[in-house]
Amino acid sequence: MNNQILIKGADVFDSANGESKVRDLAVKDGQVVDPSSLVNPQIVDASGLTAMFGLWDCHAHPGGLMYDLSAAGYFEGPAEWAVRAGSNLLEAATYGVTGIRAVADASRVDIAWAKALAEGKYLGPRLLCAGAGIRTTGGHGTAFPRRPTDAVWEIPADGADEMRKVARSLVEQGVDWLKLMITGGLYSEHETVEDSQFTDDELVAVMEVARNRGIPVAAHCGGARIAERFSELGGRSIEHGYALDEKTAATLAKNGTWLVPTISVTHDVEMMENDEWPTHAKEKAVVAAKKHAEGLMACIAAGVKIATGADLNPIGPKTHREITLLESAGMSRLQVLHAATASARELNGLGAQTTPTPGTAADLIFVEGNPMTDMSCIERPKGVMTFGRFVIPIGG
Ligand SMILES: [Zn+2]
Repeated sequence: MNNQILIKGADVFDSANGESKVRDLAVKDGQVVDPSSLVNPQIVDASGLTAMFGLWDCHAHPGGLMYDLSAAGYFEGPAEWAVRAGSNLLEAATYGVTGIRAVADASRVDIAWAKALAEGKYLGPRLLCAGAGIRTTGGHGTAFPRRPTDAVWEIPADGADEMRKVARSLVEQGVDWLKLMITGGLYSEHETVEDSQFTDDELVAVMEVARNRGIPVAAHCGGARIAERFSELGGRSIEHGYALDEKTAATLAKNGTWLVPTISVTHDVEMMENDEWPTHAKEKAVVAAKKHAEGLMACIAAGVKIATGADLNPIGPKTHREITLLESAGMSRLQVLHAATASARELNGLGAQTTPTPGTAADLIFVEGNPMTDMSCIERPKGVMTFGRFVIPIGG
């Protein structure tokens, strides 16, 4: 198979400044390379299209049922999760989502898919995975009084020793990230979004293991003070950040901690209606929405790095929705496009480049129009490439 491709004539977008310039893009072995290094490449005409880094969902649960009123997920095993994750992931790429970070999925389903996708067994997105999330007994994700029968998407740990043990067992399974459920969420009646569910010694212990092993940590975290503590301990990304303030924003900016706001979770009222959220959860979300958006804007003002994540399925359409809602919540278009592409790549260790240049991973989309004047063009990709291979060929 010829894995050398020369893509000619595209307007190449740069999320540092919103400008696009016509230049050829050379791709070899999954990377953008210097055009002069190609030998007999496949030539692809992309004139008239804008080329840019593909979109990211940095907060996904590919196999999850999300808001599962009938509690069907509690009677499922890994097989059901694996099937759902696979179709969700493969479909997401056709929506231009070329990168996904799974932050708590069941029974190593995400780890298996990440490997299969990276090996090219399926054409789909780049996937980084956290395996099961880590929570305390009775902590966020508990569905009182139900327990999963077979699939394990969160592992309870109590005390510093158990935290270390669970974190190390996830490292042994081959995760790229660790995910901690530090505070409560919107959906449960039995917890608040602000209060920490970890003791300080538990948090310190798990962060030490992560630091020793070079594994970044993402935290489901609503509250301001506990977000600051997580950031000071080296946390890489705060998820949701429902109740952050200016002080938190300054701390995250100082420490280089990302915010993945998942604004859909409090702002997508239509989704809450369609998914028949219970009244207490809807009320909690509506109350949280204003503070959530204010915290996001405080983070933007302080220079906190932002990356997109929807926290909802199916990943493809919900990522598009998250991008639209972030702009409505007050982010500039350029900030949103940067958060959805280059910033998310940087969060996931793919480098800080803001436009495809030699040495960057060739996860690209090709769209008709200029996303700065019509952002909806990113929802209809005319070409999608991951790992340097076309998932949707241009003109095909
Ligand atoms: Zn989540």
